[in-house]
Amino acid sequence: MKAVVVGGGLGGITAAVALRAVGWEVTVLERAPEFGEVGAGVGVMPNALRALARLGLADEVRRIGTPRVAGLVRDPGGRALVRVAGAGSDRVVAVHRADLHRVLRSALPEKCLVTATEVRSVEEVDADLVVAADGLRSGIRRELFPDHPGPVYAGTTGWRGVTGAGFPRDLEIGQTLGPGAEFGVLPLGDGRVCWYAATTAPEGARAADELAEVRRLVGGWHDPVAALLDATPPGTVLRHDIHELATPLPTYVRGRVALLGDAAHAMTPYLGQGACTAVEDGVVLAAMCARHDLPTALAEYDRQRRPRTQAVVRASRLVGRVGHRVRHPLVVKARNAVMRAVPAGVGLRGMTRFTGWTPPELSPDRGHVAGDLHHK
Ligand SMILES: Cc1cc2nc3c(=O)[nH]c(=O)nc-3n(C[C@H](O)[C@H](O)[C@H](O)COP(=O)(O)OP(=O)(O)OC[C@H]3O[C@@H](n4cnc5c(N)ncnc54)[C@H](O)[C@@H]3O)c2cc1C
Repeated sequence: MKAVVVGGGLGGITAAVALRAVGWEVTVLERAPEFGEVGAGVGVMPNALRALARLGLADEVRRIGTPRVAGLVRDPGGRALVRVAGAGSDRVVAVHRADLHRVLRSALPEKCLVTATEVRSVEEVDADLVVAADGLRSGIRRELFPDHPGPVYAGTTGWRGVTGAGFPRDLEIGQTLGPGAEFGVLPLGDGRVCWYAATTAPEGARAADELAEVRRLVGGWHDPVAALLDATPPGTVLRHDIHELATPLPTYVRGRVALLGDAAHAMTPYLGQGACTAVEDGVVLAAMCARHDLPTALAEYDRQRRPRTQAVVRASRLVGRVGHRVRHPLVVKARNAVMRAVPAGVGLRGMTRFTGWTPPELSPDRGHVAGDLHHK
């Protein structure tokens, strides 16, 4: 059986690795001139790590990343609001997106990867299965669901940056919630730190100097916020308006086409699950293809993925409402008081609803690929 994956982002590449692992012939078509990822860090949550374990790649991701069990949410003065501490399987691995993409790519032979090729219509793709992994602005979604409104602006703009090396290797994953803005850090383990900042803004607004704009918003916050900004090369700061698929798709499958990742369920980043659920999608799709004839496999894929991912989209939107969107001093005070009063375990249980997910075996008879499930 032959699959063509349209789009070589984290979702598409994972799907390609997984489908090959269950015996499919796979080609990835990517419109960019070369494979890779822009962006900064990504937290590989336990759910995505379990999916990567099915592909035999979890150990390598742990090796290149920074496993962390704790995270601290603070106010701009540095006072703790809530500590999210998990144990064992609740580890999040912080990695640079480009490194994660490289690990996934390394599991595919070169001949599967085709760059500088833009798919304009699914009609032109010769394959038993077409995996639409073409991202937020998916052309295939538009083609198959012409009445769907597509992604909408979530009202938030975000900045991402990576510092030079030199920060303590044991820095905690952290988030700081201020009035009207938030700031988060993901230590990459080699002394570099990935950070993000977010605030509400009109769509398309841009500053002449984006790093200066971040400084204006959060530069006066607790240590080491200013030091992180100072250690970031100004020209490297990325700014993105946040969009989501606010209207859920009625199905992730049309004929021989399966949508996955942002093409199927683009979400706001507040739960850190966009890329993680894209990775899950690829593994479940392959696992279903290994068990069933194609129509049944695709129906099962839709049945398993749509409720879960659409629940994550909704939850992520809700979580976003208590972060940088809160501006009024009284509301900020009330929010902080509630967060301080909530036992850490409660917040963690909320997260576990999504991070506790376990993937199906890749293939009913072969089990996982490279035997690193003991890390689960
Ligand atoms: C500011 C921000 C922060 C985020 N933080 C996190 C986080 O911490 N954790 C997390 O899990 N997620 C995070 N996300 C979400 C995450 O980035 C996405 O959910 C994830 O990258 C989606 O992967 P994908 O493979 O579906 O799509 P993409 O990565 O968008 O890949 C789509 C690919 O398809 C290609 N393509 C498009 N059209 C065509 C075509 N017609 N023909 C051929 N190729 C095509 C594109 O060039 C691209 O390479 C964040 C997102 C943003 C914006």
